[in-house]
Amino acid sequence: MQKVEHIGIAVKNFAEAIPLYEQLLQTNCYKTEAVQTENVNTAFFKVGDSKIELLESTDAEGTIARFIEKKGEGIHHIAFEVNNIYAEMERLKAAGFVLLNEQPKKGADNKLICFIHPKSTNGVLIEICQEII
Ligand code: ZN
Repeated sequence: MQKVEHIGIAVKNFAEAIPLYEQLLQTNCYKTEAVQTENVNTAFFKVGDSKIELLESTDAEGTIARFIEKKGEGIHHIAFEVNNIYAEMERLKAAGFVLLNEQPKKGADNKLICFIHPKSTNGVLIEICQEII
């Protein structure tokens, strides 16, 4: 894996969280994007070589809404950049990690992504991602 590409943080609403993170990080949110298949809005901030991705649910039954209901706002996942997501998924599967999807799916920010179930990673939801060229 190459680097921590971003950290995903679940928030209740962008109207409050975006200005707060702009102030915290001293940088403007450079992109917001809806991922309709996941019922989520995303907002991105650059921090050096990495990013912060805020996640806001668009649906009371969505993954992020359910996460916040159970655990409250906070870190939702850590994403690592990989050069070849297909090879990396094979490697992880062979090593016994539980992948949440069989094929890479299209994520926000022009990425192919795959999630690894937190039960196989000490309770942390891990995303691997590769830029679509
Ligand atoms: Zn992410």
